[in-house]
Amino acid sequence: MYGFGRHIRCLSRLNLVSGRYLKPKAYTSVSSAAAVDMHKTLKVGHQLHGYEVKVVDEVPELCLSAYLLDHLKTGAQHLHIQRDDNNNMFGVSLRTTPADSTGVAHILEHLSLCGSEKFPVRDPFFKMLNRSLTTFMNAFTTPDHTFYPFSTQNLKDYYNLMTVYLDAVFFPLLQPLDFNQEGWRLEHQDINDPQSDIIFKGVVFNEMKGVFSSPAAIYVRSLQNHLFPDTTYANESGGDPLVIPELKYEDLKEFHRKHYHPSNARFITYGNFPLESHLAFIDDYVLNRFNLNENFRNSTEARNQPKWSKPMRKEIQSQPDPLAPFPDKQTTVSISYMLEDKSNTHECFTLSIICSLLMDGPNSPLYQALIDSGLGSDYSPNSGFAGYTKQAFFSIGLQGIAKKDVNFVVKAIDTALKNASNDGFPEERIEAILHRLELSTKYQTNNYGLGLAMNLNSIWTHDCNPIVGLKVNDHVNRFRKELKQNPKLLEQKIKEYFISNTHRLVLEMNPSEDFEKNLREKEQNLLNEKLRKLSKEDLKDIYNKGIQLEKQQNDKQKVDILPTLVVKTDISRSFDATNVETTQISNTSVQWSAQPTNGITYFNAILKPNFSNFPQHLVPYLPLFNQVATKLGAGSLDRKQLDQEIQLLTGGLQMSVHVTDHPSQFDLFEKGLIISSHCLERNIDHMFRLLTNIFNSIRFDDDYDHLLQLIRISSAELAMSLPHYGQRYAMQRSAAALGGAFKFREQTSGLSSVDHFRSMASLESSEPVVEHLKSIADLLLNSDSMRCSINAEASTIRSSLQSVEKFINSLNKRTEPIGETQECGNNGDIPAIESMLNEHHVLPFANNYLGKSVYCTPFVHNDYAKLKIAANLVSAKYLLREVREKGGAYGGGAKFNLGGVYSYYSYRDPNVEQTIDAFNDSAQWLANQSNYSEQDIDEAKLSVFQEVDHPIMPSEQGLLLFVNGITDQMRHDYRMRLLDVTKADIEEVAKRYLVNEKLHSGVVLIGPRNDRTLSDPKWLIIEDKPNN
Ligand SMILES: [Zn+2]
Repeated sequence: MYGFGRHIRCLSRLNLVSGRYLKPKAYTSVSSAAAVDMHKTLKVGHQLHGYEVKVVDEVPELCLSAYLLDHLKTGAQHLHIQRDDNNNMFGVSLRTTPADSTGVAHILEHLSLCGSEKFPVRDPFFKMLNRSLTTFMNAFTTPDHTFYPFSTQNLKDYYNLMTVYLDAVFFPLLQPLDFNQEGWRLEHQDINDPQSDIIFKGVVFNEMKGVFSSPAAIYVRSLQNHLFPDTTYANESGGDPLVIPELKYEDLKEFHRKHYHPSNARFITYGNFPLESHLAFIDDYVLNRFNLNENFRNSTEARNQPKWSKPMRKEIQSQPDPLAPFPDKQTTVSISYMLEDKSNTHECFTLSIICSLLMDGPNSPLYQALIDSGLGSDYSPNSGFAGYTKQAFFSIGLQGIAKKDVNFVVKAIDTALKNASNDGFPEERIEAILHRLELSTKYQTNNYGLGLAMNLNSIWTHDCNPIVGLKVNDHVNRFRKELKQNPKLLEQKIKEYFISNTHRLVLEMNPSEDFEKNLREKEQNLLNEKLRKLSKEDLKDIYNKGIQLEKQQNDKQKVDILPTLVVKTDISRSFDATNVETTQISNTSVQWSAQPTNGITYFNAILKPNFSNFPQHLVPYLPLFNQVATKLGAGSLDRKQLDQEIQLLTGGLQMSVHVTDHPSQFDLFEKGLIISSHCLERNIDHMFRLLTNIFNSIRFDDDYDHLLQLIRISSAELAMSLPHYGQRYAMQRSAAALGGAFKFREQTSGLSSVDHFRSMASLESSEPVVEHLKSIADLLLNSDSMRCSINAEASTIRSSLQSVEKFINSLNKRTEPIGETQECGNNGDIPAIESMLNEHHVLPFANNYLGKSVYCTPFVHNDYAKLKIAANLVSAKYLLREVREKGGAYGGGAKFNLGGVYSYYSYRDPNVEQTIDAFNDSAQWLANQSNYSEQDIDEAKLSVFQEVDHPIMPSEQGLLLFVNGITDQMRHDYRMRLLDVTKADIEEVAKRYLVNEKLHSGVVLIGPRNDRTLSDPKWLIIEDKPNN
């Protein structure tokens, strides 16, 4: 699990989930009956382990049984979802409804992970990552609750983790120094120098400054604050950096006492482990020690926002976007409508469908009114149905528009909604949405329990019966019935909730050159005010606490207190072989695998032409090609008809760039495109018909304006992703210096690609681009160099393969032979690089992202497993401390990827130089085995096995072989090597590859201007354009 970090207010995820209402995905349809039997004895009214059963319910469409229980002594609620899924999940959720923007809930979330009664160890989640086979661990602060979930497939691990979680939540130490470290503090810039400036520091303080450096985040937060001004949602639950320093330690203690009490807690367990022992454990470990306090539940209730009698309008500002293709088009405007209370589950279900009908895809009225207008770059942030607040809302608008077009956009929305309220929607569009829902109930994600829990929390937090939210079929049936009885139902709802809704907000955001400056000034004023009030004693105290905190950070942690799995006994030396077969159909290799897919057929194709014939100038256009190939119309279908059929008959058609490193040879790699889709069994021939159309005749010339619009949408999305994935971009950019596959990746998904999209987005017409796209289609979309894979139910494999055959035979043949396909690369020795310039990509973020890459060895090499363990070891035992705990970065570490590249990274990092030193020193640290213990090696192994033994969904079985060419034998050898790695091995590979780097990059820094890099000739400064 890479990039582990606590996420605050994981809005995008929650929105996505709630925007589509429920996205539950079934695991297997076969064996849940057996699991249900075990619990058949549990009836409403039964009492066990201090609980009483309140609801017992079956949800056959999701293959699960649900049990809702009350804990009698404390009033805690427990929901158990029994399902034949080995990836068991646990979560505890507390309703945290802050009354201000000090970020108290968020800081408390951090602080509860700084040590607890039984485990006085900082960051137990990070530490448990290395003592567990967890498939997910994290904590989230949302606007109205805080959620602590984990999942694992191992029973012993489940109870280890549950103990740590329960102790952290209910019995945290909450020490004042930890408050200073995690929340905020005044401290000398240089801790050891009492003459140096005193500044604000703190993990959450810095984290939120990072969050507020993105215009999209500012917009989304402000939207929620302004739409619900009289409720808890008016506050910034993550913490406003200018308000955080108002929070006192005592307030936080009190917040914990009132909110983290069992009477205000909701427990959820999911999977195939038995319920009874969960209940006994939780009752014994936590609940027993508390008594009911109804006050705590009542006082945390989120009040409803009273409805406005007339619409409101607000204007806010943000920093200018340095990546905007048109600097004079940086305004965002939207209209948001407050909808129904979430307790009205069915009404919200209906409204979420209406919202999809209104805005999803080129056939929807708002898409046609807004996106097709070409006025903006994309929908405004947070567009769609949002269900993460107590009252749901719908938001729609455009970003990247000219300020003069604001009123036009507002009018266009009004008009589109009025038209929809008169005309309604074509029946096939409603069917397409219901089809998507049907498919999504059968589709399987690899953390099903977690997805379910996050969905349910949004209604359970407000004391509604969570099980009602699971019953997709009930909602669909009732919806169909209501629509039949009243064909004007949707039109009426649009009138009621949109046209005549007086609770609506027009929110406009404009860039201001002074935004950052003003923010910095405000922070400085706040700081000056604090400094003015300091007495001599205070100053002494600040100096001493700085020293004390540093000392505490350097203290050796008693990690051994934490429970752990044991490599020898808890990790098997064998693993399940992949059930795959390969056959040739019309000269095309087709891999197939019979899987319990719940009636879905999954298809993938890799197109791997001879890239030595592939013109280099087309490479930067590949990601655009993938984005648009299914959106322009194909064959007899124009783009709207094509979209309608894709929605109605498939789970979508996706294309992406395919680059995979050779498992055994440096600088050999395969590149091309990968195309994926899935559908219900009954639609398989339709799916292939649509694919054939796209392969043979994309309608590139239908609508250049629309293509330009698609380019602008992609460009806007990429620009927004930069601050979220800065460390990934930095790593990828640095790896590009190693050439080969790494350079190709950078060109197609790195900073270079962001830049290429931006330059395409600023074109006046898309016509010059079209020629390139046509060339790509001509070179790639044919069966000559294709291989396919099918995963389906055993009973449908035969017919599926027949459909594949028809598909292959329906494809165009190239007129000229493309020649023997071969991998690219030099196949030479690894060249040594003497010196390599560092790159600073100047972007006005609040913090920095770093990356540096070293080429080591390919996957099948003996040393690969050793380096893999080394990267995890040094991340957990060295870089975490140096970069995060001491350096104040949000995260950092080392990764060793499938291509054999060892990369260092850090993100939201305030201390660039210190981190670069830590990268270098970490190699020396590894090269001396007295720095780590056998237990440390075991922990690194466990963390690697989290990845190796991660659950593989039926849809993904065999893909490692199909995509990466990694056979079961290679996997087996890798597994054995991992298990056998010793301390001496680590020392040896560290000396060989990391201390004496051969092929390596310079450091890549993405972040704001700084004087040090500007004046240092070792740094290449790249400003304005991210890539030149
Ligand atoms: Zn946080």
